[in-house]
Amino acid sequence: MSEMCRAALAKGIPEIGFSDHFDLIPEDPCYAFFKADAWWQDLERCREEYAGALRIKAGIEIGEPHRFPEAVSELINNHAWDFIIGSLHWVGDTLVFDQDYYLRPQQQAYRDYFQELHQVARLNTVSILGHMDIVKRYGFDHYGRFDPKPYERELRPLLRSCADSGMALEVNTSTLRRPVKEPSPNTTILRWFREEGGHWVTVGSDAHQPEDVGFELEKAIECVRSVGFETLTGFERLSPYPIPLPAKS
Ligand SMILES: [Zn+2]
Repeated sequence: MSEMCRAALAKGIPEIGFSDHFDLIPEDPCYAFFKADAWWQDLERCREEYAGALRIKAGIEIGEPHRFPEAVSELINNHAWDFIIGSLHWVGDTLVFDQDYYLRPQQQAYRDYFQELHQVARLNTVSILGHMDIVKRYGFDHYGRFDPKPYERELRPLLRSCADSGMALEVNTSTLRRPVKEPSPNTTILRWFREEGGHWVTVGSDAHQPEDVGFELEKAIECVRSVGFETLTGFERLSPYPIPLPAKS
């Protein structure tokens, strides 16, 4: 965690959010990964070490939160989280990081994902909807470039639910590290989100190692700016607040 903070400081990033995976499906590779006591100790140590230099926010990325409402409430109520990311990594009983998921036709792969994701977008316990079209990360290898247009009819209501729940939409740059070479989601979906009443957006590099901290955040910020948003979103104890977009470099 401390290495991640140093990497953020080296890149001139003023605020970092940590969000380990919290997954409740026993077959998930991150099942039982999160160790609350050790994690909070590390976080508090970093907050002391980098006080005045870096703002450090406490978050968690919950996989499939719609399937485990009781465990999710307990996790949220027992800790001083700044933000909760709700993500979907499983559709039915298939992990979307498994090649098997892509045995289905392209339209079905995306439709099935968005259909289940819509249940996450309706949760009022989630602060941020994570990497909302992540299926394209590996879908790219099977079907080519992801074009959201054919899915507009299901995506707009999903984005409206996200906006109505007061959720922020994350622009995640992990997909820029892959052949797909665009953030998740891209500007078309971001624009629809704004048109459907979306107000809050976050940018994240989804870094699993220090060298990826802040990866291509400038590109994510340009996407946000290009569709007319004027602010990014910070969270403090689950409440969102606006952060002006950095001046154009
Ligand atoms: Zn994720």
